Amino acid sequence: MNRDDLQLLHHLQAIDSAIDRNMQLLATADDGTAAKKKLEEEKARLEELQEKLREKQAHQRKLALDLEGIEAEQQEKSDRAYGGMVSDPKELSALEKKIAELGRNAERHEDMILELLEEIDEVERQVEEQQETVDQLSREHERIVADYEAGTSEAREEIEQLRQRREELVGEIDRSLCSQYEQLRERLDGVAVATLVNGTCQVCHVAVPRARWSMITRGKTVIKCENCRRILVAPDEE
Ligand SMILES: [Zn+2]
Repeated sequence: MNRDDLQLLHHLQAIDSAIDRNMQLLATADDGTAAKKKLEEEKARLEELQEKLREKQAHQRKLALDLEGIEAEQQEKSDRAYGGMVSDPKELSALEKKIAELGRNAERHEDMILELLEEIDEVERQVEEQQETVDQLSREHERIVADYEAGTSEAREEIEQLRQRREELVGEIDRSLCSQYEQLRERLDGVAVATLVNGTCQVCHVAVPRARWSMITRGKTVIKCENCRRILVAPDEE
């Protein structure tokens, strides 16, 4: 390890802090996740209503078909009863009874069909309304995502570039120094390196004993701030 390693580490810290700042910016921007969740919920509700509508329509078609069958039987029995073919009064009376029963059944079906048609109207109205809600939320979600893309594109590009530079830099730094740095960064809120300026740690602003200054400037060993435990580096003269 030498002085250059510490300078590179100082540079790495600057890059990591810049990445962290940009990440923070992205984390607080609305990327449309909440709007998407709401949209999915309303879409599911729309599908439920559409399914309900299909069920009612199928039920109505079935009742209409049954009614046709009842009416056909009614017609056939009437033709027989009043076509002059039946002379037995008992048979005639039984037929009339059956015709009356079919008539009541047909009426019941008509009532049920009317009721269902009203329900279908209502559900169709609900489907239409829900479709409007879904369309509106879908536009809202698209708008938020577009805003997010536009508002954060700079930060995302910067992160991309910083990460590339970081990767190159890490390859140049002493490996054990690097892993020390990573561990410190985890413990110390992302800041593992502090500069020494005018004998003071520039992160916690506590004075560093004069006896250590030259060691820090030489950079042969890792010297940490006794107060905040960060690796101290002497900034480049330029
Ligand atoms: Zn300190």
